[in-house]
Amino acid sequence: MSDHLMNTYNRQPVTFTKGEGVWLWDIAGEKYLDALAGVAVNGLGHAHPKLVNAIAKQAAKLIHVSNIYQIAEQSALADKLCEISGMDKVFFCNSGCEANEAAIKIARLYGHNKGVEMPEIIVMEQSFHGRTLATLSATGNRKVQAGFEPLVSGFIRVPYDDVEAVKQVALHHPNIVAILVEPVQGEGGINIPKDAGGYLEALRQICDTHGWLLMLDEVQTGIARTGTWFSFQHTPIKPDVMTLAKGLGSGVPIGACVASGKAAEVFTYGKHGSTFGGNPLATAAGLATLNIIEEEGLRENAEKIGNLIREGFNAEFKTTQGVVVVRNAGLMIGIELDRPCGDLVRMALDAKLLINVTADNVVRLLPPLVMSEAEATELVQRLAALIKTFLTK
Ligand SMILES: *Cc1c(COP(=O)(O)O)cnc(C)c1O
Repeated sequence: MSDHLMNTYNRQPVTFTKGEGVWLWDIAGEKYLDALAGVAVNGLGHAHPKLVNAIAKQAAKLIHVSNIYQIAEQSALADKLCEISGMDKVFFCNSGCEANEAAIKIARLYGHNKGVEMPEIIVMEQSFHGRTLATLSATGNRKVQAGFEPLVSGFIRVPYDDVEAVKQVALHHPNIVAILVEPVQGEGGINIPKDAGGYLEALRQICDTHGWLLMLDEVQTGIARTGTWFSFQHTPIKPDVMTLAKGLGSGVPIGACVASGKAAEVFTYGKHGSTFGGNPLATAAGLATLNIIEEEGLRENAEKIGNLIREGFNAEFKTTQGVVVVRNAGLMIGIELDRPCGDLVRMALDAKLLINVTADNVVRLLPPLVMSEAEATELVQRLAALIKTFLTK
């Protein structure tokens, strides 16, 4: 590996050269089962022929123009995202943190427009919203923030899955204008609210009562990951703002800030922008991704395979000391152990299995949405054996 790369990642000693579906091959020709999908990005698996074709066709026609001009692919993707979300308007950018930056700017401008000069946004403990200054300030993880002070102000932190805590801060903070929350916390450890739908419904109600914006960070939960297009669709509510990225372009960088109602009218000419955001290549990839998910029934598959994997692990771990709980929302799967398990990532790699560990003691799986039953069964068997070995060491 080059000495000229900044040391921002503790990289595993492997280089991949090609992929197909849930499988990857390294430079030595060894084959790996990919249960991480580039951290929830490669929902269609690797080298999906319809996606490859859509990207190649678009690249041959037009990769980039500028948002100074009308972009047909961008318009088509905005229409599609609004059709499947029931929301009204989209701003395109290139990543999750940028989508959240847009959401934070919308919240602040929304506040200023109604006379709140120092608007504040409620955020959660253990949350993750990105690595830019505003989004790391919103993130509930000191490791992400340390050394980058002064942080961006205007965030009020409360415990996750605690409606009472939100009601309490509402009493003492007249400048609150929005709540920013992940429907399921990904980096935080696959944290699913006890009553996931009830939590979002309660937050919606509080926002309505106070005239705040409900802003859902669906960067990881969105694009069919939890079995519906967006995680909020497991409930009857709709957010004012939703942010997307990860799975949206199947690996071609793209992010989106989607808004509805009054929040959709906050940005006016000159208030925000992006050079690359929504370019023809990225939005063609996004459009192909959504169409393929629809054509191939991948929302249903995510729900089915996710539950199959959870049940499989539960059966495997029935008598295993050290496994606290297995939880999932579709194909967001967490196996919580009673001890730090970062070493499992390298053990799994040596066993030709790609997994992730987050929040110190949670094995996190984010498999491609295209995973079959047979592949899921193989994943459960191979990984359960590895975890059992790890726990008896
Ligand atoms: C990954 C992630 C982000 C940041 O996305 P980037 O594309 O890395 O900037 C933000 N929010 C959530 C919930 C994420 O999982």
